[in-house]
Amino acid sequence: MPELIDLHTHSRVSDGTETPTEVIQAAIKSGLGTIALTDHDTTDGWAEAFEAAEGTGVQVIPGMEFSTRWEGKSIHLLAYLIDPENLDLRAETLRIREERSRRAETIVDKLANDFEISWRDVLDHAGEGATIGRPHIADVLIAKGIVEDRGQAFHEILRPGGHYYVPHYAPDPLRAIQLVVAAGGVPVLAHPATRGVGQVISKQNLAHLVDAGLFGLELKHRENQADAVAVLEDYAKYFGLVSTGSSDYHGAGKPNRLGENSTDSKVLERIIAAATGSSPFQG
Ligand code: AMP
Ligand code: FE
Ligand code: FE
Ligand code: ZN
Repeated sequence: MPELIDLHTHSRVSDGTETPTEVIQAAIKSGLGTIALTDHDTTDGWAEAFEAAEGTGVQVIPGMEFSTRWEGKSIHLLAYLIDPENLDLRAETLRIREERSRRAETIVDKLANDFEISWRDVLDHAGEGATIGRPHIADVLIAKGIVEDRGQAFHEILRPGGHYYVPHYAPDPLRAIQLVVAAGGVPVLAHPATRGVGQVISKQNLAHLVDAGLFGLELKHRENQADAVAVLEDYAKYFGLVSTGSSDYHGAGKPNRLGENSTDSKVLERIIAAATGSSPFQG
């Protein structure tokens, strides 16, 4: 059986529901050989993940899911094996985390007009120093019996364009890729086919990202839509981009299960060979 390689997961350091230690334990249970921890806009979970993996035989790829914005839409960029001390990258991700927090507070202010919810509730719920996102607000709505799960919270209350939605600052994808490459990392567009073929990135725009160092596309992801994936498979071939597969595990926060998609070991080798910012941790 090929090794299971899951290159996209979240812990409580962002919007997952498990600590990095619990994510590694879950990875072992799920039979993963390699797992990347890719919390939103932070590398703060890496050390705990390495410690938890020590002696288990599981390989940990340190990563991050970088928030970017393009034409008013949120685009996520997976950044593998970056130098976590890189000053420009640190400054930008710190700015995003601060703006995320301010934005979440604004969302909660709006919600407070209609629901029994306060910013204190969200802060009490989110892990100390965690990258704050709408999932933390969703969890408070669940705890108060207002919705059943995060899915319902997003669908009915927190979706973009909805009454309570507020966007947050994020750099454009080109700038984010430049920052990741300058930090020795390997950038891969996360779930690039979720909005369907009508809104897939144009070949021309993709060419700019490839010129800046984009390395791959996460083509195997449960939220990708098949018609858009078909187009992007052609683009990947044309530009020589790798294709990855992953779960986007968020613990109990999403139905996504570890190892439900896997990345080819040859692709992982290429990602590791291209990186200069940090090293995989062999547990
Ligand atoms: P934000 O970071 O505040 O923009 O919120 C986006 C995050 O919410 C994503 O990273 C997902 O983890 C999560 N998310 C988005 N849609 C859903 C959903 N339908 N169910 C559960 N989590 C979701
Ligand atoms: Fe998330
Ligand atoms: Fe994402
Ligand atoms: Zn993710």
